[in-house]
Amino acid sequence: MNAIPRTESTPVYRRLHVQVLIAMALGTVLGLSGNEAVADWVGRLGVLFVRLLKMVIVPLVATSIITGVVSIGRGGGLGRLGIKTLAYYMLTSLLAILLGLVMVNLMRPGDGAFSELTAGAAAPQVERPDSMVDILVRMIPTNPVRAAADMDMLGIIVFCLFFGVILNGSPASIRDPLRDLISSLFEVMMRMTSAIMAVLPLGVLGLITTAVHGSGGAVFESMGRYMATVAMALVIHLFVTLPLLLLLFARIDPRTHFRNMLDALLTAFSTSSSSATLPLTMRCVEERVGVSNRVTSFTLPLGATVNMDGTALYECVGVLFIAQVLGADLAFSQQMVVVFTALLASIGAAGVPSAGLVMIFIVLEAVNLRGPEVSAIVGTMLAVDRPLDMFRTGVNIYSDSCGAAIIAVSEGETEIDRPRPGSA
Ligand code: ASP
Repeated sequence: MNAIPRTESTPVYRRLHVQVLIAMALGTVLGLSGNEAVADWVGRLGVLFVRLLKMVIVPLVATSIITGVVSIGRGGGLGRLGIKTLAYYMLTSLLAILLGLVMVNLMRPGDGAFSELTAGAAAPQVERPDSMVDILVRMIPTNPVRAAADMDMLGIIVFCLFFGVILNGSPASIRDPLRDLISSLFEVMMRMTSAIMAVLPLGVLGLITTAVHGSGGAVFESMGRYMATVAMALVIHLFVTLPLLLLLFARIDPRTHFRNMLDALLTAFSTSSSSATLPLTMRCVEERVGVSNRVTSFTLPLGATVNMDGTALYECVGVLFIAQVLGADLAFSQQMVVVFTALLASIGAAGVPSAGLVMIFIVLEAVNLRGPEVSAIVGTMLAVDRPLDMFRTGVNIYSDSCGAAIIAVSEGETEIDRPRPGSA
């Protein structure tokens, strides 16, 4: 996709990620200052920014998937690309979960923690998700227009994949005009995304101010070890596992890839939403990493909803943490149940803030952990969820970007992650 010209070499202060980092620092200071009125007003910038991003998501995902399926299908490669993509998603999510499993067993953050909490403190209400079977059934929307209106991403994806496959197999007189129209719409959506990105630093300023302002300090202390376990496992996945996969499967320098993805990572960090970050992920992977639109348009929208390494890892650590707090030592076979349900829960989680925490009930149910103490602990986890959510969302979209790069190389694309003018 060449719709948006690459930036020529720009002075440091005009680079987007530098501006975003400054906005983050400023937002932290404003949030910590504790001034209600300032936090309120500045916070609105964040609200406006997220609304702008959400505005483009549904048309972007729909046009992108249909364009992707049609362009892949022309070369007869849909099946091959689909299998590679799903294999990568399963592999990285499982690696992330196993890493979480090892870390939580080594660090045992739940041992002896929260005696006062399990004694029945008032638990904040946490919404319970549908069961796994319901999620599979709901993937087929009864009304695609409503799926779009409700931003039901799995439903939209299934409809668009089906639409794309049938369009592809239709006679040229039917296929070609529609294909050209949808691909033009897609180009326009990408341009709108670029326009929105111009105000990214302002959005980040608002979001970080709100996040820092809203999180009380006290609760962080009692949850420290749990948070450290999740954070360390996420860091290892981000800086060891995924870079190794990049090197092993695609011979890509992980440092270059990380730099290329910085704007998207910072956006994921600030918005805690893979879906809201998707427009930027697509832009970075196409323009900076250099992956063809043929690969990104298929892998990234799917990945933003289905491939959540950080969330999968988090589900596993979170459930075992709760088991440790309750003194319920899970046998090996039960830990394996956690591994597989964590994988399913991460697939079913929507790419929105705290979606992963809600899905944790599915994994808890699978190993029979329920009751008021469990709800109380999950409630406290909710209180400290924001910073963890920021990290796991970053890991989620980074894994998508690594997948797109690896798959592009495996498809014979050679210009992936070469240093480019204007890259960070
Ligand atoms: N916020 C995450 C995401 O959008 C999902 C989660 O809560 O784990 O990727």
